Amino acid sequence: MKSTKERFDQFDSRFRELAIRESEALFAMYRGLEHEDLDKIEAETSALWREPETRKLAKGKPRSSELRRPVFLLKLGALRNEVEGIEDIYKAKNLCNRMLVEFKPEVDGRPISRSDLGELLKWDKDAARRRRASGAFVPLEKELHEKVLDLIDRRNRAAKDLGFESFPHLAFELNELDLDEVKKQLGDLLEQGADSFEEVLMEQKDQPGMTPGGLLSSDLSFLHENFLPNLPREKFPEERLLGALRKEYLAVGIDLEKLPIQTVIRDIPAGGFCFTFDPGKDVRILANPRDGQSWYQVLFHEYGHAVQGSVSKGDGHYLVALGDPGFFWEAIAVLFEKLAMRKKFLAGYVDDEGEIERFLDGARKRLAFRIRSLAMDALFEYMLYLDPAPYEELQKRRAAMIREYYLVEPAVDPPPFTTNIFHITHPCYIQNYVLAEMAAAHLLEASQGGDPWTPDLAKRIIDELLVPGAMMTWQEKIRRFSGKDLSPEALVRQLYGG
Ligand SMILES: [Zn+2]
Repeated sequence: MKSTKERFDQFDSRFRELAIRESEALFAMYRGLEHEDLDKIEAETSALWREPETRKLAKGKPRSSELRRPVFLLKLGALRNEVEGIEDIYKAKNLCNRMLVEFKPEVDGRPISRSDLGELLKWDKDAARRRRASGAFVPLEKELHEKVLDLIDRRNRAAKDLGFESFPHLAFELNELDLDEVKKQLGDLLEQGADSFEEVLMEQKDQPGMTPGGLLSSDLSFLHENFLPNLPREKFPEERLLGALRKEYLAVGIDLEKLPIQTVIRDIPAGGFCFTFDPGKDVRILANPRDGQSWYQVLFHEYGHAVQGSVSKGDGHYLVALGDPGFFWEAIAVLFEKLAMRKKFLAGYVDDEGEIERFLDGARKRLAFRIRSLAMDALFEYMLYLDPAPYEELQKRRAAMIREYYLVEPAVDPPPFTTNIFHITHPCYIQNYVLAEMAAAHLLEASQGGDPWTPDLAKRIIDELLVPGAMMTWQEKIRRFSGKDLSPEALVRQLYGG
């Protein structure tokens, strides 16, 4: 008879093979290349999770302590598959994602890449054009909304069939997070940030280029980029980005040339994607950067994911090396993103120290705005599952939320929301970016000093947070690293002072 270890390893290597095939297919799809049918790969993966042998393994209580965590993660994976492995669900997800990727947004009858659309909303001085650009996904929304709401309903019903109150309750359990606690934290952040958000809005509402006679949601990115202190985009040219990135990572002792990371530039429906095909062996990044410091941050972030994918060992188990919850991956990426925010780094591009100080103050307010919109989107998403309603009613609720939290009118009314990629491919993931900022602030504060970024800090991040993978829970890793449990305090201090 085979030992539990042998049976686990056998599962793990079959799972690894399927996961690599899925990454290959997704990566090719985002690049617009031919690829293997995703439905087919997911059917095989789902079948593997449902094999009697896998189920038996998931139910077991291994005697050896080294196998306890891997088997627990296998149990979570099997539970996830009870929803995501349902044929109707993965087929609907893959179809909606393909429609989203293949959709070509247009502004004023001209096709525009997603990166340039984002740039337009940030920088175009023509308020009416920004408003029209906000509607670039409305034609897709018309085709997609029924399908996405149906996908949400199917996920919810499948979670309820398993005995969960709703799909978010299941999703949070799979990520070793507590839904009610996170909901409260997001609500608190919205409340704590309300005054400073309103202050920025009131101070800047009459600036040139803002919509006259009443602000719209399409004014908000424009306002935050243009009228809060920023650095000139041309000082951070796209061509210098990858070189700057290698240099900064090297300065903290991480030689990216020695890591198995490949980068491909291509238009995608996000700032960047990082795929860990095979931990320690094969990691690939897709991105489509433009000029500007914020794009440096985007790529520094993706390389943070790539470093994690390159060094995570998880005791040699594929499932464990990749087993940290999504928020923890984001926290690591956000930590490395902060490399592009150091005064030392910025001084390489801007001579004036005062300008850097002012920029950092502006960046803090931009981050507060980003957290505000993420918290709002996350709470809106839970509502889609916890309090479902017909589409028109959901649009009304979305509009009401924009008015309540942004204090402006929706640029597109009724506002589209089902074209948000997270509702399709990564349900209940949005909060991870907020929790990641929380964790990064917590970890950096714990490491003290003016500029905490030293080779010693990077080494500790790698050894203590990344190499073990999910052999340790995220709570244990954060406690060991910082000496205390994760709390929002450091982030709140960073954003709102006090
Ligand atoms: Zn990320």
